Amino acid sequence: MTTKYLFFTGGVVSSVGKGVTAAATGLLLKERGFKVAVQKLDPYINVDPGTMSPYQHGEVYVLDDGAETDLDLGHYERFIDIRLSRSSNFTSGQVYAEIISKERRGDFLGGTIQVIPHITNEIKRRVASIGKETNADVVLVEVGGTVGDIESQPFLEVLRQLRNEVGRENVFFIHVTWLPYIKATGEIKTKPTQHSVAALRSIGISPNMIIARSDYPVDKDICDKIALFCDVEKEAVVPMITSDVLYEVPLLLEKAGVGDYLVEKLNMKSTRRVDMKPWEKLVERVRKPKQTVKVALVGKYVELQDAYMSVREALKHAALANDVEVEIGWVHAADLEKDKGWDVVQNADGILVPGGFGSRGIEGKILAARYAREKKIPYLGLCLGMQVMCIDFARGVLNHEDANSSEFDRGSEYPVIDLMLDQRAITDMGGTMRLGLYPCELQEGSKAAKAYGEKKVEERHRHRFEFNNNYKKDFEKGGMVFSGMSPDGKLVEVVEIADHPFMVASQFHPEFLSRPMKPHPLFVGFMKAARDGKK
Ligand code: GLN
Repeated sequence: MTTKYLFFTGGVVSSVGKGVTAAATGLLLKERGFKVAVQKLDPYINVDPGTMSPYQHGEVYVLDDGAETDLDLGHYERFIDIRLSRSSNFTSGQVYAEIISKERRGDFLGGTIQVIPHITNEIKRRVASIGKETNADVVLVEVGGTVGDIESQPFLEVLRQLRNEVGRENVFFIHVTWLPYIKATGEIKTKPTQHSVAALRSIGISPNMIIARSDYPVDKDICDKIALFCDVEKEAVVPMITSDVLYEVPLLLEKAGVGDYLVEKLNMKSTRRVDMKPWEKLVERVRKPKQTVKVALVGKYVELQDAYMSVREALKHAALANDVEVEIGWVHAADLEKDKGWDVVQNADGILVPGGFGSRGIEGKILAARYAREKKIPYLGLCLGMQVMCIDFARGVLNHEDANSSEFDRGSEYPVIDLMLDQRAITDMGGTMRLGLYPCELQEGSKAAKAYGEKKVEERHRHRFEFNNNYKKDFEKGGMVFSGMSPDGKLVEVVEIADHPFMVASQFHPEFLSRPMKPHPLFVGFMKAARDGKK
């Protein structure tokens, strides 16, 4: 079968769930027996989001191969249940860097380097290569941003060119827009959608389908109006009302006939009958009233929950596995230092400290770990959450008040967390951490091993600092168990406290491998302990 291309563009406003829509569409095609590949094109100039503030960009999602990517890749992996690679996400920055280094090498000697064709050809090469690389039947390509952005123009130009090069019958454009609601008149408006389609058509792209997002029910005549003004078939205007359950999106798209429509229009042959029952059951279970478990998430970027997207989803998956509902209390770590926000921590059934960088709020996170340790409240630490747990242990149990991570105090006399040796000479910030999948061996009988039910695991990493092995013996004497180590025994991967219902933390990021249908064992273990110890 020739590879088919589904291009997702956004109109009107950003943050309407284009990534989720693409992910859910990918699932519908996978369920029909097609091999699906996904790619996100980010028009910004950063080489990757690794150096961007979570406030600007939300979570940095890490892949097996260590690529630091856009959080939409998390949606793709969770919905479609696939493992993506570096080629599934690239930015303008990467494209320009590549072309400029070629220019310096002299590859274009004599030529003037221009956006068209040099930049666009490099974009095209990357879009075209993912299908070949993955041997996919269908490649879903999502263009970041909104139609009309200056940055995204070269990307859209490439999609237009590709339509002719791979054949119109193999390409399908899905435009995801937003329908505003005017309260005063009780009306849903289609004009912004019309304008965004006009903008798209001015660069030579006519959408084949419009997915119109809305917070309110959309009547058939609104859809017909969009079809008429935007020149798409009536069946190809799909209203998508905001759902309270993220995992309902594929069901809504399936119900609207999106899967069948795509298969028909792209002239594909399904090899399997779609069975969305498992997803229906999942959504039913999410909606069923359940006992609530409260988790205090003590972080740095809590105003923007997108910064903890995968952690939040992993908590939800684990809650479902334990037949409870999770209520996340978002706690600003820096508040705890000022005696604020403690009510949320004190009322919580479990405390979670996620990853993070920089010193703001560090002491608050250490205090949260101390509270969990002393009051025997279930605790899950992720990366930095493991490091602060070790700092608290050194201070509170081993009486080294000066203990710290050299990330926050270079002069600490007891640097329990220190820079890895191979990190010392590094000067570039971007893409230089310990990144991606690494193996870890678990100690038999430990809480971690029990949670996993396995002895050897592989998890995704993103950190520069590491537990300092000089202090391992002191810690063990004090009651800390190093329950997960790298196979060569050199790097601490999981720590836990023996005399505690569940105080487990990992140097890696388990949240990246949690799936709605396959909740992550450490999160499940944590949630179970929180449920069982409920106040
Ligand atoms: N800042 C810490 C380090 O670099 C933790 C990183 C993280 O939590 N992802 O090691």
